[in-house]
Amino acid sequence: MREISVRPEILDFAPYVPGLTIEQIQRQYGLTTVIKLASNENPLGASPLVQKAIERNAARAFRYPENHSPMLVKAIAANAGVPEDCVLVGNGSDEIIDMLFRMKGIPGKSNVVCYEHSFAMYRMCAKLCGLEYREVPRGPELELPLDAMAEAADENTAMVIVTSPDNPSGLAAGVEDLSVLAGVLPKDCLLVVDEAYIEFAWPPESYSPVQAFDKFENLVCLRTFSKAYGLAGLRLGYGILPPKLAALLKNARIPFTVNLLAEEAGLAALEDEVFFNETLSVVMRGRELFLTELPKLGCKVWPSQSNFVMFEPPKPAQSVFKALLEKGIIVRPLASFGLGSCIRVNVGTDAENRIFLDTLREILNG
Ligand SMILES: *Cc1c(COP(=O)(O)O)cnc(C)c1O
Repeated sequence: MREISVRPEILDFAPYVPGLTIEQIQRQYGLTTVIKLASNENPLGASPLVQKAIERNAARAFRYPENHSPMLVKAIAANAGVPEDCVLVGNGSDEIIDMLFRMKGIPGKSNVVCYEHSFAMYRMCAKLCGLEYREVPRGPELELPLDAMAEAADENTAMVIVTSPDNPSGLAAGVEDLSVLAGVLPKDCLLVVDEAYIEFAWPPESYSPVQAFDKFENLVCLRTFSKAYGLAGLRLGYGILPPKLAALLKNARIPFTVNLLAEEAGLAALEDEVFFNETLSVVMRGRELFLTELPKLGCKVWPSQSNFVMFEPPKPAQSVFKALLEKGIIVRPLASFGLGSCIRVNVGTDAENRIFLDTLREILNG
């Protein structure tokens, strides 16, 4: 066999670790019923309006979509309360993250400032783009270290990335603190706020800087339809960016990354306020339940502004994870985030939440 060479960075790549799928666990343990609370998906599934929109447009699947999805951009801008020229849609917000790294970072020169225990995409993209990845440490309670991030940034920092609400801790930065950070960063350094879970932060105006977007010159907010809107499988996200930056990224991007059905689904998802509000109430209710009940089982919990809760069980997390799997419940162990003693569980339906808590109680008492 011929050895095919690749860029040296690729040889020792730590790949993205996804949550296990229901089908994997059904096969492995011979189970019929499996509950997945591992990937922060919408407990209510996909909105009925979205499903109808996909069916209605199925026959159009042979057509290319309109590049940059102008109709969807218009709807997103109206929903977020920002001008249309600030909005860039992508194949999941992961695509926007990838684009930002490739288009803002200069290989071998730029650095990117993140904090410990954060979303794996940032490190992967930095490595792939040949950018230095600066990881700011966090305290024992995992507070978001915004001051230390400002200190870590220098004239070669392409961007500082804050996930707020944070995955996996669930903690969120306040809008005032984010404004201060945006203001003190070096000239030409972006503050990227990954708002994948912002819809669950309450009240939203205390957390999202988007409402004052016109006051910032270096702010990028990333949002997604994967969580609150239930479209994870269709891959749809967006960025809210300074208009000049959005225009440059548009020029340089791969065409048609947002497919036609995702576009129609996104439009329908924004229209379905009933489904969206129902999602919020299920999530808020489940989050309160977890935050009240998990400590009674001896678990340490972190306050959450998200659709999941992170906890540290009184027994080794890996064994608790395995025991839950054997009972057909998939949660997310956090070793790949560098938090080997912790587990992340997302809110499910009311029934799923109860089953999870009852099963966990049996495991911890057994
Ligand atoms: C889920 C998630 C995203 C978004 O993912 P997409 O499905 O690509 O839109 C982005 N950042 C964080 C921290 C996430 O947890």
